[in-house]
Amino acid sequence: MSLFYCLGKAIILKYGAMGETDLNKVVRQHIEMDRFFTGGFAVKGESESQFFSSGPEKAGSENTAAELEQIAAEVGRCCKCGLGGSRTNAVPGEGSCNARIVFVGEAPGAEEDLQGRPFVGRAGQLLDKIIAAMGFGRSDVFICNILKCRPPDNRDPRPDEIVSCLPLLQRQLALIRPEVIVALGAHAARTLLDTNKPIGQLRGKFHDYYFSLDQPPIKLMATYHPAYLLRNYSQDSRRRVWEDMKKVVAELNLKLPEK
Ligand code: URA
Repeated sequence: MSLFYCLGKAIILKYGAMGETDLNKVVRQHIEMDRFFTGGFAVKGESESQFFSSGPEKAGSENTAAELEQIAAEVGRCCKCGLGGSRTNAVPGEGSCNARIVFVGEAPGAEEDLQGRPFVGRAGQLLDKIIAAMGFGRSDVFICNILKCRPPDNRDPRPDEIVSCLPLLQRQLALIRPEVIVALGAHAARTLLDTNKPIGQLRGKFHDYYFSLDQPPIKLMATYHPAYLLRNYSQDSRRRVWEDMKKVVAELNLKLPEK
């Protein structure tokens, strides 16, 4: 008996009163979502990307790369807050300087601190799957955090640390100028949107992120942090992230890859 058959049966039991079309829609959404989170997504390398390999490079991208390197070097030397003294490695961020999407998380965790790279632990593995399901490779996008150094015991970022660190992220975003920023979790969303609203209210719709007074804003989609999803691996939380990411793909005028 196939997985889809079982899934269909379970859904029919749950949504017995629905009409045929509604039921088909619900089954399709469940299957799509299941593939999104559990499919055997290969994390695609740069050359395998269907969206970026032949795309035009942004003018001046060599300069952008050099300036991003310079910021990374500054991050490596930074001791503006106490975290500079406790880190193993700073984690400036990584990815394409032509990225159409920048993912912004909260702060490096233990594995990121050891490797000096963002999202390489368990939450990172889930983020890789999400990125792959959207049709991108990790090297197509840019991944970074609000804080560039790990807070001890993974505690929440403190306001003074955010104030010290934020200008570095702002410079990265202004250089890359992605079409969409995805803020992962409440800390990233609230910091970038300068609000105290809960993530449940912020997610699911596009906001404007202004990186300069004389430039048009960048679209920002807030969604749940992958670490939150790992802790709350419910149909509902996964469906919400899936819906949010589908909006991002549509905003870029792309289609979800066929599985
Ligand atoms: N969580 C984050 O917010 N950032 C990382 O880089 C890893 C885990």
